[in-house]
Amino acid sequence: MSNVRSLFKTFFLTELLVGMSVTLRQMFARKITIRYPEEKAPQSPRFRGLHALRRYPNGQERCIACKLCEAVCPALAITIDSDVSEDGTRRTTRYDIDLFKCIYCGFCEEACPVDAIVETRIHEYHMENRGENIMTKDKLLAIGERYEAMIAADKAADARYR
Ligand code: SF4
Ligand code: SF4
Repeated sequence: MSNVRSLFKTFFLTELLVGMSVTLRQMFARKITIRYPEEKAPQSPRFRGLHALRRYPNGQERCIACKLCEAVCPALAITIDSDVSEDGTRRTTRYDIDLFKCIYCGFCEEACPVDAIVETRIHEYHMENRGENIMTKDKLLAIGERYEAMIAADKAADARYR
């Protein structure tokens, strides 16, 4: 009986037809792939991408050099030096994040009492030269200044989810 069934399958190419029916079904199914980078996948406001340091609207740095982010970082990616500034406030003199060590856990952002260090939606970045993996304070502040509107909107959206 199995020989007859096998002969039937071979003669009528039924397995090929079954395979073709799968292809035909998928042609009309909902597409689950996108044409990146022309099309982008939706992102959560809590997406953890490239870091940024923020300023207040009056231009003052938010960071008060409490070093909580440095202490909580499980990858030891953050290095902070601090001093007392001319106006008597405590400020960082060095704030480095090593992106090669960072595991993008978001703990630094969670720990920060003044929303100074944040992880932005930015994920399309690369390094071409040795040392570019170190995000210095100046680079982090520049990202914060450039993307403040996006960061503030994401923070507000995130607050609504909590
Ligand atoms: S995201 Fe996590 S690993 Fe990266 S710097 Fe912040 S605390 Fe460290
Ligand atoms: S970024 Fe936030 S947690 Fe880190 S030192 Fe500055 S104020 Fe403290």
